[in-house]
Amino acid sequence: MSAENFFDNLKNDLSFSGNREKEATCLKRYNKRGDGRLDQDEFHEMCLDLFVDDGKSFPLTETESRRIFEQLDDNQDNYIDRDEFHILWRYWLPMILQPKAALIAVDVQNDFIDGSLAVAQAEEIVPVINRILDDEGMFEQVIYTYDWHPENHVSFHNNVCLRNIHHTSKVQQKDACVFDTVVFDGHVPMEQTLWPAHCVQHSHGAKLHADLKITKDHVDIYKGVCDHVDSYSAFFDNQRLSQTELAVALCDRRITDVYVCGLAYDVCVRHTAIDAASLGFRPFVIEDACRGLTTESCDKARREMEEAGCIMVSSTQVKSMAEANTRVPKMALQAAENVALARRKAKVKLASMNSDHGDKPLTNGFVVENSSSLDM
Ligand SMILES: [Zn+2]
Repeated sequence: MSAENFFDNLKNDLSFSGNREKEATCLKRYNKRGDGRLDQDEFHEMCLDLFVDDGKSFPLTETESRRIFEQLDDNQDNYIDRDEFHILWRYWLPMILQPKAALIAVDVQNDFIDGSLAVAQAEEIVPVINRILDDEGMFEQVIYTYDWHPENHVSFHNNVCLRNIHHTSKVQQKDACVFDTVVFDGHVPMEQTLWPAHCVQHSHGAKLHADLKITKDHVDIYKGVCDHVDSYSAFFDNQRLSQTELAVALCDRRITDVYVCGLAYDVCVRHTAIDAASLGFRPFVIEDACRGLTTESCDKARREMEEAGCIMVSSTQVKSMAEANTRVPKMALQAAENVALARRKAKVKLASMNSDHGDKPLTNGFVVENSSSLDM
């Protein structure tokens, strides 16, 4: 059996993570020195077998494997010992070999395609998304998001006179043009780009494109529903004052990976993907299933998304990734960070149980919630 096949075989064994015999076999296989633990070189060799691009090894650098190693080496003694290997086997490997994927189709709505805020060539993404959705069973959950504004929404240019402008705003109400950015007054001054009125609740412009394939058992997420704050991300409003049901819907299905596509690449896709990363999901952005406003801001958005840990893919790569035939080191690092976070959370919980003055539980949102699906 070749080394690659070792993990490919595990991939199809849904109960592998509970199999202590296979766990011991795997540790022994890579522990060439025979001391019952992996050093960084041995771990690197294991990673070379684990991370493949449809059969071929990824060109993995030692720095990349070391960063993963450091997250999994809980006691920082430069070895993955037996206990740490058990956590790796039980929680980290399943995320890599048996990911649970969701597709998030962001704002594929008439107004963004041929309506008041049309994005160039936006219609071209509809057949691309439909082809991705043809493959039944690739996704545990399919989500459609809607920009869903009341008529008096803060982002509409024609509503600029409804609210007070903060004294720091460079643009005043009387001079404000569409696409200008103003600063509105409030508890905290709030920057806002002024868009043409779009996606008004229940209007034709707010409907999904008629040709978009709608799957059974999908979830609809509505954003930008409050008049006083805009929402580019499908998770949070722009001030992070409130959140949608999206994170909960993903956690309910124990989603690990989200594939983001839709409109517009440099606005709502960008913010949704970056928030997904911040919440501990592993975001893939399907570039040919997105369109953006300008080349310049799309380039900037791509850099920001990549820095946040997002992986850019094309629609033809999705199947291989969602089925874990292509396994990317960058995603494994995020999985390792989630494992480390869940372990820290478990320790805090233990400490607070052992002491009346225990540390406060971590409360940084859904990172913890999502990691807690690891059941440590
Ligand atoms: Zn909007």
